[in-house]
Amino acid sequence: MKQLTVGWEEWVSLPKLGLPAIKAKIDTGAKTSSLHAHSIEVYGKNKDRVRFKINPVPEKPDLELVCKATLSGQREVTSSNGESELRYFIKTPIQLGGEKWTIELSLTNRESMSYRMLIGRTTMSDKLMVSPNEGLLHETLSIDAYDGVSGEKPFNRSLRIAILSREKENYSTQRLVEAAEERGHHVRIIDTLRCYMDINADAPAVHYDGKILEDYDAIIPRIGSSITLYGMAVVRQFEMMGVYCLNSSQSIGCSRDKLLAHQLMSRKKIQMPKTAFANSSKDTKSIIDIIGKAPMILKLSQGTQGRGVVLAETRKAAESVVTAFQGLEANILLQEFIPEAGGADIRCFVIGNKVVAAMKRQAEEGEFRSNLHMGGKALKVKITPTERKIAIKAAKALGLKVAGVDILRADSGPKVIEVNSSPGLEGIENTSGKDIAGLIIEHLEMYARPISWSL
Ligand code: ADP
Ligand code: MG
Repeated sequence: MKQLTVGWEEWVSLPKLGLPAIKAKIDTGAKTSSLHAHSIEVYGKNKDRVRFKINPVPEKPDLELVCKATLSGQREVTSSNGESELRYFIKTPIQLGGEKWTIELSLTNRESMSYRMLIGRTTMSDKLMVSPNEGLLHETLSIDAYDGVSGEKPFNRSLRIAILSREKENYSTQRLVEAAEERGHHVRIIDTLRCYMDINADAPAVHYDGKILEDYDAIIPRIGSSITLYGMAVVRQFEMMGVYCLNSSQSIGCSRDKLLAHQLMSRKKIQMPKTAFANSSKDTKSIIDIIGKAPMILKLSQGTQGRGVVLAETRKAAESVVTAFQGLEANILLQEFIPEAGGADIRCFVIGNKVVAAMKRQAEEGEFRSNLHMGGKALKVKITPTERKIAIKAAKALGLKVAGVDILRADSGPKVIEVNSSPGLEGIENTSGKDIAGLIIEHLEMYARPISWSL
Protein backbone atom coordinates (compact mmCIF):
# COMPACT_ATOMS: atom_id res chain seq x y z
CA MET A 1 0.00 0.00 0.00
CA LYS A 2 1.31 3.41 -0.97
CA GLN A 3 1.95 5.68 1.97
CA LEU A 4 0.48 9.15 2.00
CA THR A 5 1.87 12.07 3.96
CA VAL A 6 -0.85 14.27 5.39
CA GLY A 7 -1.04 17.43 7.46
CA TRP A 8 -3.00 17.82 10.70
CA GLU A 9 -6.08 18.76 8.73
CA GLU A 10 -7.18 17.57 5.30
CA TRP A 11 -10.20 17.61 3.03
CA VAL A 12 -11.59 14.16 2.38
CA SER A 13 -14.60 12.75 0.63
CA LEU A 14 -16.75 9.82 1.67
CA PRO A 15 -18.38 8.93 -1.66
CA LYS A 16 -20.48 5.98 -0.46
CA LEU A 17 -22.10 8.19 2.15
CA GLY A 18 -22.78 10.92 -0.41
CA LEU A 19 -20.41 13.36 1.28
CA PRO A 20 -18.20 15.03 -1.34
CA ALA A 21 -16.22 17.32 0.97
CA ILE A 22 -15.48 17.08 4.67
CA LYS A 23 -12.69 18.79 6.49
CA ALA A 24 -11.14 16.26 8.86
CA LYS A 25 -8.71 16.66 11.70
CA ILE A 26 -5.91 14.14 11.76
CA ASP A 27 -5.44 13.37 15.41
CA THR A 28 -2.67 11.04 16.47
CA GLY A 29 -4.05 11.34 20.01
CA ALA A 30 -7.25 9.54 19.03
CA LYS A 31 -7.42 5.79 18.46
CA THR A 32 -10.50 5.48 16.32
CA SER A 33 -11.82 7.70 13.57
CA SER A 34 -15.19 9.29 14.02
CA LEU A 35 -17.82 11.09 12.00
CA HIS A 36 -20.40 13.57 13.17
CA ALA A 37 -23.84 11.99 13.27
CA HIS A 38 -27.09 12.60 15.02
CA SER A 39 -30.57 11.09 14.97
CA ILE A 40 -28.82 7.76 14.58
CA GLU A 41 -31.17 4.91 13.90
CA VAL A 42 -30.49 1.24 13.35
CA TYR A 43 -32.89 -0.36 10.92
CA GLY A 44 -33.41 -3.29 8.58
CA LYS A 45 -34.67 -6.81 9.18
CA ASN A 46 -31.41 -7.88 10.78
CA LYS A 47 -30.82 -4.51 12.41
CA ASP A 48 -27.55 -4.32 10.52
CA ARG A 49 -28.08 -1.05 8.71
CA VAL A 50 -27.77 2.40 10.17
CA ARG A 51 -29.03 5.76 9.02
CA PHE A 52 -28.15 9.07 10.51
CA LYS A 53 -28.24 12.76 9.90
CA ILE A 54 -25.16 14.87 9.38
CA ASN A 55 -24.53 18.57 8.96
CA PRO A 56 -21.28 18.21 7.03
CA VAL A 57 -20.32 21.89 6.89
CA PRO A 58 -19.93 23.65 10.26
CA GLU A 59 -20.37 27.04 8.61
CA LYS A 60 -23.65 25.93 7.05
CA PRO A 61 -25.56 24.39 9.95
CA ASP A 62 -28.78 24.28 7.95
CA LEU A 63 -27.33 21.87 5.42
CA GLU A 64 -28.47 18.52 6.73
CA LEU A 65 -28.08 15.22 4.89
CA VAL A 66 -29.18 11.71 5.61
CA CYS A 67 -26.59 8.96 5.22
CA LYS A 68 -27.05 5.22 5.20
CA ALA A 69 -24.47 2.51 5.78
CA THR A 70 -24.01 -1.06 6.88
CA LEU A 71 -23.09 -1.44 10.52
CA SER A 72 -19.78 -3.04 11.32
CA GLY A 73 -20.31 -3.15 15.07
CA GLN A 74 -20.99 -1.37 18.30
CA ARG A 75 -18.20 -0.69 20.79
CA GLU A 76 -17.34 1.46 23.76
CA VAL A 77 -15.16 4.46 22.87
CA THR A 78 -13.45 6.68 25.43
CA SER A 79 -13.01 10.21 24.17
CA SER A 80 -10.16 12.56 25.04
CA ASN A 81 -12.14 14.06 27.92
CA GLY A 82 -12.37 10.63 29.54
CA GLU A 83 -16.06 10.05 28.88
CA SER A 84 -16.99 6.78 27.34
CA GLU A 85 -19.80 6.21 24.93
CA LEU A 86 -21.22 3.14 23.25
CA ARG A 87 -20.87 3.94 19.56
CA TYR A 88 -21.92 2.44 16.26
CA PHE A 89 -19.20 1.72 13.71
CA ILE A 90 -19.42 1.66 9.93
CA LYS A 91 -16.93 0.82 7.17
CA THR A 92 -16.84 3.14 4.20
CA PRO A 93 -14.45 4.21 1.43
CA ILE A 94 -12.50 7.42 1.90
CA GLN A 95 -10.81 9.52 -0.79
CA LEU A 96 -7.81 11.65 0.03
CA GLY A 97 -4.82 12.81 -1.99
CA GLY A 98 -5.87 10.84 -5.05
CA GLU A 99 -6.05 7.61 -3.07
CA LYS A 100 -9.14 5.63 -2.14
CA TRP A 101 -9.38 2.97 0.54
CA THR A 102 -11.84 1.71 3.14
CA ILE A 103 -11.80 2.87 6.73
CA GLU A 104 -13.84 2.22 9.84
CA LEU A 105 -15.61 5.15 11.49
CA SER A 106 -17.54 5.52 14.71
CA LEU A 107 -20.65 7.68 14.70
CA THR A 108 -20.96 10.36 17.34
CA ASN A 109 -22.38 13.81 17.79
CA ARG A 110 -19.54 16.22 17.02
CA GLU A 111 -21.80 19.24 16.66
CA SER A 112 -19.86 21.26 19.20
CA MET A 113 -16.53 20.37 17.60
CA SER A 114 -14.90 22.38 14.87
CA TYR A 115 -14.27 19.32 12.67
CA ARG A 116 -17.02 17.01 11.52
CA MET A 117 -14.58 14.16 11.19
CA LEU A 118 -11.61 12.93 13.13
CA ILE A 119 -9.03 10.58 11.69
CA GLY A 120 -7.41 8.50 14.41
CA ARG A 121 -4.51 6.08 14.64
CA THR A 122 -6.30 2.95 13.46
CA THR A 123 -7.12 4.61 10.15
CA MET A 124 -3.61 5.94 9.70
CA SER A 125 -1.85 2.66 10.48
CA ASP A 126 0.36 1.92 7.48
CA LYS A 127 -1.48 4.20 5.13
CA LEU A 128 -0.91 7.68 6.50
CA MET A 129 2.17 9.48 7.67
CA VAL A 130 1.37 12.61 9.61
CA SER A 131 3.40 15.75 9.30
CA PRO A 132 2.04 17.38 12.44
CA ASN A 133 3.31 20.89 11.80
CA GLU A 134 1.60 21.22 8.46
CA GLY A 135 -2.07 21.51 7.55
CA LEU A 136 -3.80 20.87 4.21
CA LEU A 137 -1.07 19.18 2.19
CA HIS A 138 -3.63 17.94 -0.32
CA GLU A 139 -6.36 19.34 -2.50
CA THR A 140 -8.83 21.75 -0.92
CA LEU A 141 -12.31 20.51 -1.74
CA SER A 142 -15.02 23.05 -2.15
CA ILE A 143 -18.18 22.96 -0.11
CA ASP A 144 -19.90 24.17 -3.28
CA ALA A 145 -19.99 20.46 -4.02
CA TYR A 146 -23.06 20.43 -1.79
CA ASP A 147 -24.91 22.96 -3.94
CA GLY A 148 -28.08 21.40 -5.17
CA VAL A 149 -27.53 18.32 -3.03
CA SER A 150 -30.57 17.93 -0.91
CA GLY A 151 -29.81 14.38 0.03
CA GLU A 152 -32.60 12.05 0.83
CA LYS A 153 -35.66 13.32 2.60
CA PRO A 154 -35.05 13.02 6.32
CA PHE A 155 -36.77 9.97 7.65
CA ASN A 156 -39.78 10.60 9.77
CA ARG A 157 -40.16 7.86 12.24
CA SER A 158 -42.97 8.01 14.71
CA LEU A 159 -41.80 8.53 18.25
CA ARG A 160 -42.67 6.54 21.32
CA ILE A 161 -43.59 9.09 23.93
CA ALA A 162 -44.43 8.61 27.59
CA ILE A 163 -46.22 11.30 29.55
CA LEU A 164 -45.41 11.09 33.24
CA SER A 165 -48.59 12.25 34.89
CA ARG A 166 -50.86 11.29 37.71
CA GLU A 167 -53.84 12.92 36.06
CA LYS A 168 -55.01 11.04 32.98
CA GLU A 169 -58.12 13.14 32.52
CA ASN A 170 -56.42 16.46 33.02
CA TYR A 171 -56.78 18.95 30.11
CA SER A 172 -53.02 19.29 29.56
CA THR A 173 -52.39 15.53 29.59
CA GLN A 174 -55.28 14.90 27.20
CA ARG A 175 -54.16 17.62 24.81
CA LEU A 176 -50.61 16.23 24.70
CA VAL A 177 -51.96 12.75 23.94
CA GLU A 178 -54.18 14.17 21.22
CA ALA A 179 -51.37 16.23 19.66
CA ALA A 180 -48.94 13.30 19.69
CA GLU A 181 -51.47 10.90 18.14
CA GLU A 182 -52.46 13.43 15.50
CA ARG A 183 -48.84 13.43 14.38
CA GLY A 184 -48.67 9.66 14.23
CA HIS A 185 -46.70 9.05 17.42
CA HIS A 186 -47.27 6.35 19.95
CA VAL A 187 -48.08 7.83 23.34
CA ARG A 188 -48.77 6.40 26.75
CA ILE A 189 -49.65 8.05 30.05
CA ILE A 190 -47.61 6.68 32.90
CA ASP A 191 -48.48 7.26 36.53
CA THR A 192 -45.29 8.67 38.00
CA LEU A 193 -45.87 7.16 41.42
CA ARG A 194 -46.35 3.66 39.97
CA CYS A 195 -42.90 3.68 38.35
CA TYR A 196 -40.24 1.87 40.30
CA MET A 197 -36.57 1.78 39.65
CA ASP A 198 -33.81 -0.74 39.20
CA ILE A 199 -30.70 1.27 39.96
CA ASN A 200 -27.50 -0.41 38.86
CA ALA A 201 -24.35 0.31 36.93
CA ASP A 202 -25.03 -1.74 33.81
CA ALA A 203 -28.62 -1.37 32.81
CA PRO A 204 -30.60 1.10 34.89
CA ALA A 205 -34.29 0.57 34.23
CA VAL A 206 -37.73 1.86 35.10
CA HIS A 207 -40.33 -0.77 35.87
CA TYR A 208 -44.07 -0.35 35.64
CA ASP A 209 -46.80 -2.83 36.43
CA GLY A 210 -44.26 -5.63 36.72
CA LYS A 211 -42.55 -4.92 33.39
CA ILE A 212 -39.52 -2.93 32.31
CA LEU A 213 -40.44 0.25 30.46
CA GLU A 214 -38.28 0.34 27.39
CA ASP A 215 -37.97 1.78 23.96
CA TYR A 216 -39.27 5.22 24.80
CA ASP A 217 -37.77 7.99 22.68
CA ALA A 218 -39.05 10.80 24.83
CA ILE A 219 -40.56 11.55 28.21
CA ILE A 220 -42.85 14.47 28.91
CA PRO A 221 -42.67 14.97 32.66
CA ARG A 222 -45.77 16.55 34.20
CA ILE A 223 -44.70 16.24 37.80
CA GLY A 224 -47.10 17.60 40.42
CA SER A 225 -45.52 19.67 43.16
CA SER A 226 -46.56 17.23 45.86
CA ILE A 227 -44.40 14.49 44.37
CA THR A 228 -41.43 16.53 43.16
CA LEU A 229 -38.79 14.36 44.79
CA TYR A 230 -40.07 11.00 43.56
CA GLY A 231 -40.91 12.47 40.17
CA MET A 232 -37.39 13.81 39.79
CA ALA A 233 -35.95 10.41 40.61
CA VAL A 234 -38.10 8.76 37.92
CA VAL A 235 -37.10 11.36 35.32
CA ARG A 236 -33.45 10.99 36.33
CA GLN A 237 -33.71 7.23 35.83
CA PHE A 238 -35.04 7.76 32.29
CA GLU A 239 -32.17 10.18 31.67
CA MET A 240 -29.69 7.49 32.69
CA MET A 241 -31.31 5.17 30.18
CA GLY A 242 -30.58 7.75 27.48
CA VAL A 243 -34.21 8.76 26.94
CA TYR A 244 -34.81 12.39 25.91
CA CYS A 245 -36.64 14.13 28.75
CA LEU A 246 -38.48 17.28 27.79
CA ASN A 247 -37.41 18.90 31.05
CA SER A 248 -34.51 17.41 32.94
CA SER A 249 -34.83 16.20 36.49
CA GLN A 250 -32.40 18.87 37.63
CA SER A 251 -34.26 21.71 35.94
CA ILE A 252 -37.54 20.55 37.47
CA GLY A 253 -35.87 20.60 40.89
CA CYS A 254 -34.57 24.14 40.32
CA SER A 255 -38.01 25.41 39.36
CA ARG A 256 -39.69 23.87 42.41
CA ASP A 257 -37.38 25.55 44.90
CA LYS A 258 -38.21 29.26 44.67
CA LEU A 259 -35.12 30.20 46.65
CA LEU A 260 -32.79 28.29 44.32
CA ALA A 261 -34.66 29.56 41.25
CA HIS A 262 -34.25 33.17 42.37
CA GLN A 263 -30.56 32.63 43.02
CA LEU A 264 -30.02 31.07 39.59
CA MET A 265 -31.86 33.96 37.95
CA SER A 266 -29.94 36.53 39.93
CA ARG A 267 -26.74 34.95 38.69
CA LYS A 268 -27.92 35.61 35.13
CA LYS A 269 -28.90 39.18 36.02
CA ILE A 270 -32.59 38.56 35.44
CA GLN A 271 -34.70 41.28 37.08
CA MET A 272 -36.93 40.11 39.94
CA PRO A 273 -38.61 41.77 42.94
CA LYS A 274 -36.10 42.41 45.70
CA THR A 275 -35.96 39.14 47.68
CA ALA A 276 -34.35 38.15 50.99
CA PHE A 277 -33.95 34.94 52.95
CA ALA A 278 -32.66 34.08 56.41
CA ASN A 279 -32.53 31.04 58.63
CA SER A 280 -32.45 32.51 62.11
CA SER A 281 -35.21 34.54 63.74
CA LYS A 282 -32.43 36.79 65.02
CA ASP A 283 -32.07 38.05 61.45
CA THR A 284 -35.73 38.62 60.71
CA LYS A 285 -35.56 42.37 61.33
CA SER A 286 -32.48 42.63 59.11
CA ILE A 287 -34.12 40.94 56.14
CA ILE A 288 -37.20 43.11 56.61
CA ASP A 289 -34.81 46.07 56.40
CA ILE A 290 -33.43 44.74 53.12
CA ILE A 291 -36.92 44.74 51.61
CA GLY A 292 -37.68 48.15 53.12
CA LYS A 293 -41.20 49.37 53.32
CA ALA A 294 -44.44 47.48 53.94
CA PRO A 295 -46.55 46.00 52.57
CA MET A 296 -44.33 43.10 51.62
CA ILE A 297 -44.78 39.59 50.27
CA LEU A 298 -43.93 36.39 52.13
CA LYS A 299 -43.55 33.23 50.12
CA LEU A 300 -43.07 29.62 51.03
CA SER A 301 -40.12 28.42 48.98
CA GLN A 302 -41.99 25.27 47.92
CA GLY A 303 -45.49 26.79 47.58
CA THR A 304 -47.64 26.60 44.45
CA GLN A 305 -50.93 27.84 43.06
CA GLY A 306 -50.76 30.94 45.22
CA ARG A 307 -51.31 28.97 48.41
CA GLY A 308 -47.98 29.80 50.03
CA VAL A 309 -48.03 33.51 49.22
CA VAL A 310 -49.07 36.07 51.83
CA LEU A 311 -49.21 39.86 51.80
CA ALA A 312 -48.06 41.43 55.07
CA GLU A 313 -49.52 44.92 55.45
CA THR A 314 -47.03 46.07 58.07
CA ARG A 315 -43.46 45.32 59.05
CA LYS A 316 -44.78 43.99 62.35
CA ALA A 317 -47.08 41.52 60.57
CA ALA A 318 -44.20 40.43 58.34
CA GLU A 319 -42.04 39.80 61.36
CA SER A 320 -44.59 37.61 63.13
CA VAL A 321 -45.33 35.55 60.00
CA VAL A 322 -41.64 34.97 59.28
CA THR A 323 -41.05 33.94 62.90
CA ALA A 324 -44.06 31.61 62.87
CA PHE A 325 -42.87 29.86 59.70
CA GLN A 326 -39.32 29.57 60.95
CA GLY A 327 -40.76 27.83 64.02
CA LEU A 328 -42.30 25.28 61.65
CA GLU A 329 -38.97 24.88 59.88
CA ALA A 330 -40.49 26.06 56.64
CA ASN A 331 -38.33 28.07 54.25
CA ILE A 332 -39.88 31.43 53.64
CA LEU A 333 -38.77 34.19 51.29
CA LEU A 334 -39.42 37.82 51.96
CA GLN A 335 -40.14 39.86 48.86
CA GLU A 336 -40.82 43.40 47.80
CA PHE A 337 -44.52 43.88 46.88
CA ILE A 338 -45.11 45.25 43.39
CA PRO A 339 -48.40 47.17 43.82
CA GLU A 340 -48.42 48.61 40.30
CA ALA A 341 -48.81 45.07 38.88
CA GLY A 342 -52.42 45.55 40.00
CA GLY A 343 -53.04 41.92 40.86
CA ALA A 344 -51.97 40.76 37.42
CA ASP A 345 -49.06 38.82 36.06
CA ILE A 346 -47.97 37.81 32.59
CA ARG A 347 -47.49 34.11 31.87
CA CYS A 348 -45.05 33.57 29.02
CA PHE A 349 -45.08 30.05 27.60
CA VAL A 350 -41.57 29.14 26.50
CA ILE A 351 -40.70 26.21 24.22
CA GLY A 352 -37.01 25.89 23.36
CA ASN A 353 -35.74 29.36 22.53
CA LYS A 354 -39.10 30.95 21.90
CA VAL A 355 -42.05 32.43 23.73
CA VAL A 356 -44.83 30.70 21.79
CA ALA A 357 -47.74 32.36 23.59
CA ALA A 358 -48.51 34.65 26.50
CA MET A 359 -51.52 35.52 28.62
CA LYS A 360 -52.32 37.96 31.34
CA ARG A 361 -53.81 36.62 34.54
CA GLN A 362 -55.89 39.08 36.46
CA ALA A 363 -56.71 38.42 40.12
CA GLU A 364 -60.26 38.60 41.43
CA GLU A 365 -61.43 41.85 42.98
CA GLY A 366 -59.76 42.29 46.37
CA GLU A 367 -57.10 39.62 45.72
CA PHE A 368 -53.46 40.27 44.73
CA ARG A 369 -52.69 36.71 43.63
CA SER A 370 -53.53 36.15 40.00
CA ASN A 371 -53.33 32.33 40.01
CA LEU A 372 -56.16 30.73 38.03
CA HIS A 373 -56.59 28.38 41.02
CA MET A 374 -57.28 31.49 43.11
CA GLY A 375 -60.03 32.66 40.80
CA GLY A 376 -57.80 34.68 38.46
CA LYS A 377 -58.98 35.26 34.88
CA ALA A 378 -56.87 34.50 31.81
CA LEU A 379 -56.85 37.35 29.29
CA LYS A 380 -55.22 38.04 25.95
CA VAL A 381 -52.06 40.12 26.11
CA LYS A 382 -49.33 41.41 23.87
CA ILE A 383 -45.90 41.24 25.41
CA THR A 384 -42.97 43.58 24.83
CA PRO A 385 -39.65 42.49 23.32
CA THR A 386 -38.03 42.98 26.76
CA GLU A 387 -40.57 40.66 28.38
CA ARG A 388 -39.99 38.11 25.63
CA LYS A 389 -36.25 38.24 26.16
CA ILE A 390 -36.39 37.99 29.94
CA ALA A 391 -38.79 35.01 29.77
CA ILE A 392 -36.46 33.07 27.47
CA LYS A 393 -33.51 33.95 29.66
CA ALA A 394 -35.30 32.79 32.81
CA ALA A 395 -36.25 29.40 31.31
CA LYS A 396 -32.66 28.99 30.18
CA ALA A 397 -31.24 29.97 33.58
CA LEU A 398 -33.08 27.01 35.08
CA GLY A 399 -32.35 24.71 32.17
CA LEU A 400 -36.01 24.23 31.22
CA LYS A 401 -36.91 23.51 27.62
CA VAL A 402 -40.60 24.02 28.29
CA ALA A 403 -41.58 26.56 30.93
CA GLY A 404 -44.25 28.95 32.08
CA VAL A 405 -42.45 32.12 33.10
CA ASP A 406 -44.45 34.52 35.28
CA ILE A 407 -43.62 38.19 35.07
CA LEU A 408 -44.90 41.20 37.01
CA ARG A 409 -45.12 44.53 35.19
CA ALA A 410 -43.36 46.93 37.56
CA ASP A 411 -42.74 50.63 36.91
CA SER A 412 -39.04 49.87 36.66
CA GLY A 413 -39.58 47.11 34.05
CA PRO A 414 -40.57 43.43 33.97
CA LYS A 415 -39.72 41.31 37.02
CA VAL A 416 -39.75 37.52 36.94
CA ILE A 417 -41.47 35.95 39.96
CA GLU A 418 -41.70 32.31 39.03
CA VAL A 419 -40.71 29.72 36.44
CA ASN A 420 -43.00 26.71 36.13
CA SER A 421 -41.72 23.39 34.80
CA SER A 422 -45.14 21.81 34.16
CA PRO A 423 -47.16 24.81 32.96
CA GLY A 424 -50.87 24.11 32.35
CA LEU A 425 -52.14 24.25 28.77
CA GLU A 426 -55.81 25.09 29.20
CA GLY A 427 -55.64 28.82 29.99
CA ILE A 428 -52.89 29.52 27.50
CA GLU A 429 -54.45 27.55 24.60
CA ASN A 430 -57.85 29.14 25.16
CA THR A 431 -56.61 32.70 25.36
CA SER A 432 -54.04 32.48 22.58
CA GLY A 433 -56.00 30.14 20.31
CA LYS A 434 -52.72 28.33 19.62
CA ASP A 435 -52.02 24.62 19.52
CA ILE A 436 -49.43 24.65 22.31
CA ALA A 437 -49.59 20.87 22.79
CA GLY A 438 -48.76 20.47 19.10
CA LEU A 439 -45.78 22.80 19.43
CA ILE A 440 -44.47 20.74 22.35
CA ILE A 441 -44.70 17.57 20.25
CA GLU A 442 -42.95 19.34 17.35
CA HIS A 443 -40.14 20.24 19.73
CA LEU A 444 -39.80 16.56 20.60
CA GLU A 445 -39.76 15.62 16.93
CA MET A 446 -36.76 17.88 16.50
CA TYR A 447 -34.81 16.91 19.56
CA ALA A 448 -35.74 13.43 20.71
CA ARG A 449 -33.11 11.20 19.20
CA PRO A 450 -34.66 7.94 18.16
CA ILE A 451 -33.32 5.27 20.44
CA SER A 452 -30.91 2.77 19.01
CA TRP A 453 -31.70 -0.87 19.40
CA SER A 454 -28.89 -3.05 20.56
CA LEU A 455 -27.57 -5.39 17.93
P1 ADP B 1 -47.10 30.34 43.31
O1 ADP B 1 -46.06 29.37 43.03
O2 ADP B 1 -47.90 29.97 44.50
O3 ADP B 1 -47.92 30.64 42.08
P2 ADP B 1 -46.02 33.03 42.92
O4 ADP B 1 -44.70 33.52 43.34
O5 ADP B 1 -46.24 32.83 41.48
O6 ADP B 1 -46.33 31.70 43.73
O7 ADP B 1 -47.11 34.04 43.46
C1 ADP B 1 -48.50 33.88 43.27
C2 ADP B 1 -49.15 35.17 42.80
O8 ADP B 1 -48.98 36.21 43.76
C3 ADP B 1 -48.50 35.70 41.54
O9 ADP B 1 -49.08 35.14 40.40
C4 ADP B 1 -48.77 37.19 41.64
O10 ADP B 1 -50.04 37.51 41.12
C5 ADP B 1 -48.74 37.45 43.13
N1 ADP B 1 -47.39 37.91 43.54
C6 ADP B 1 -46.34 37.13 43.80
N2 ADP B 1 -45.25 37.86 44.14
C7 ADP B 1 -45.63 39.14 44.09
C8 ADP B 1 -44.95 40.39 44.34
N3 ADP B 1 -43.69 40.41 44.71
N4 ADP B 1 -45.68 41.53 44.18
C9 ADP B 1 -46.97 41.49 43.79
N5 ADP B 1 -47.65 40.36 43.55
C10 ADP B 1 -47.01 39.19 43.69
MG1 MG C 1 -47.18 31.38 40.23
